[in-house]
Amino acid sequence: MHGRGHASALSVSCTGATRRTLSRSRVAVAFSAVLLVTFPANADIGVTGTRPDFFTQVRAALKLLKEKAPEEYKQIEKDIGMIKEVEAWHLSGMNPFADPPTFSLSITTVRISVTWCAGAIAHDACHSREWHAYARKHPKEAVPDSVWTGQAAELRCIAHEIEVMKRIGAPAWEIEDLRRTDGLHYLRTWRFR
Ligand SMILES: [Zn+2]
Repeated sequence: MHGRGHASALSVSCTGATRRTLSRSRVAVAFSAVLLVTFPANADIGVTGTRPDFFTQVRAALKLLKEKAPEEYKQIEKDIGMIKEVEAWHLSGMNPFADPPTFSLSITTVRISVTWCAGAIAHDACHSREWHAYARKHPKEAVPDSVWTGQAAELRCIAHEIEVMKRIGAPAWEIEDLRRTDGLHYLRTWRFR
């Protein structure tokens, strides 16, 4: 089962954080300006969090997906409306029924590498895609968990993740790590969510 828990207290929106920082000090203003210059466009998928390197990595991952896997990126924009920083892997997961659909992503996962982060985004976009596909086909039903979570869904989304990782030029060892997983990662490890 993919985590639905959301640690709302942890996240500060990018805009909000910037606004608050601006009123505080000149050093902070300079810092915010750097952030704004570095990550201006590409705002279709919102990113919220507190750590600058969360934004750097997630933006770089989205840029990589957009450049190397543009069709996938277009789809991801429909699957995920918001990527939210969370403190730990066990808080991470996809909430496809949120408005906008929100992917909670742990800072630990993000820091592994840009390609790993991009893979994680594609992975959870896959879960969201499956949820939305069912919801569209069965508008009057609740979406059963088995449609988009559990081992079978994990294996489908890992396979999808591997394809995307290849397209974006992820290193071989990252792809090997994914190949070795059995789809039960959501029950135990910290790396795969
Ligand atoms: Zn998963």
